[in-house]
Amino acid sequence: MSEVKKIAVIAGDGIGPEVVAEAEKVLKVTEEVFGYKFETEHALFGGIAIDERGTPLPEDTLEICRSADAVLLGAVGGPKWDNNSKELRPETGLLGIRKALGLFSNLRPAVVFDCLKDASTLKPEVLEGTDLMVVRELTGGIYFGEKLRRQGEHGEEAVDTCVYNVTEVERIVRQAFEIAGKRRKKLASVDKANVLETSRLWREVVNRLAPEYPDVELEHVLVDNCAMQLLRRPSSFDVIVTENMFGDILSDEAAMLTGSIGMLASASMGEGSYGLYEPVHGSAPDIAGQGLANPIATILSLALMFRLTFGYEDAAAAIEAAVAEVLDAGHRTSDIAVDKSKAISTTQMGDLIAAAI
Ligand code: ATP
Ligand code: MG
Repeated sequence: MSEVKKIAVIAGDGIGPEVVAEAEKVLKVTEEVFGYKFETEHALFGGIAIDERGTPLPEDTLEICRSADAVLLGAVGGPKWDNNSKELRPETGLLGIRKALGLFSNLRPAVVFDCLKDASTLKPEVLEGTDLMVVRELTGGIYFGEKLRRQGEHGEEAVDTCVYNVTEVERIVRQAFEIAGKRRKKLASVDKANVLETSRLWREVVNRLAPEYPDVELEHVLVDNCAMQLLRRPSSFDVIVTENMFGDILSDEAAMLTGSIGMLASASMGEGSYGLYEPVHGSAPDIAGQGLANPIATILSLALMFRLTFGYEDAAAAIEAAVAEVLDAGHRTSDIAVDKSKAISTTQMGDLIAAAI
């Protein structure tokens, strides 16, 4: 019998609880089918934690996350908390939890399901075979550098500073090489080395590490070119690794290739196999509580947890195959349905995927 893995479950706000409930159904079924053992513990986080505990990230939530092997998160935030002071905003909780758990990369797979090619804005022949992963640095760059306002010669000026140190670049580039080694062994390192000093340092580090990963084919791509190639021939990419802001933009672009935000999984990782897994989408307050949310992004995030944290490739592949099977059979939630009147609910979609496993 396999050892018991601990999963911290954070449902969060808006559609978070609805989509997480479906992922938990899938978790139960994979336990039964594959014999893995999981112990889940629920924790308060985000807007609901602000309401009930006066802070977006209560200490006991952090403890539950720290003592678990992985975290499954729904979504946090909503208009109710948007005008709160900084320390009482759900988004502040997100930054806090990443920092407290030492998560420095965000992984976003973008896979085009054959039967959903009609949902994308790109032509089917361009999308054919698209299966890529964006690895985005999360802790450095222009988001966290010094910022200031000052009076210059021509009036008010603003300054954002972009800083990266060798250690920050090294740890994420190593992670990306390792991920690429387990996939199709191609790594595109994206920078703007013709203009930015941080990009030149980034490229030096990548080139220094490359000989340690001889089976991975490396290419350096300028960010503007990468943005173009993602629309022109997305199937040419396997793993893309890049700094914080470029990754923010490119991962949203890659997301749109697949048709719907309701389909996209993500993982945030630190050193080792610990990870926090969540759908790419937000709390979608406009559709919350109506059974309209697509649970597939959260279910695929669970599959990613099985693959990256637990190494349960059989269960991960089974979940992904079940999703493809249900979509192939024509079942759609309203976000991906061409004929909205035939759309199924959040729980119906979860039931079908669980049954397919
Ligand atoms: P955030 O600031 O958290 O990113 P947002 O409002 O920018 O929030 P989402 O909450 O992801 O972004 O919602 C964007 C749009 O996509 C909304 O119209 C929402 O209803 C829709 N959407 C998001 N997730 C899903 C889902 N799982 N199923 C169906 N529609 C979704
Ligand atoms: Mg948003």
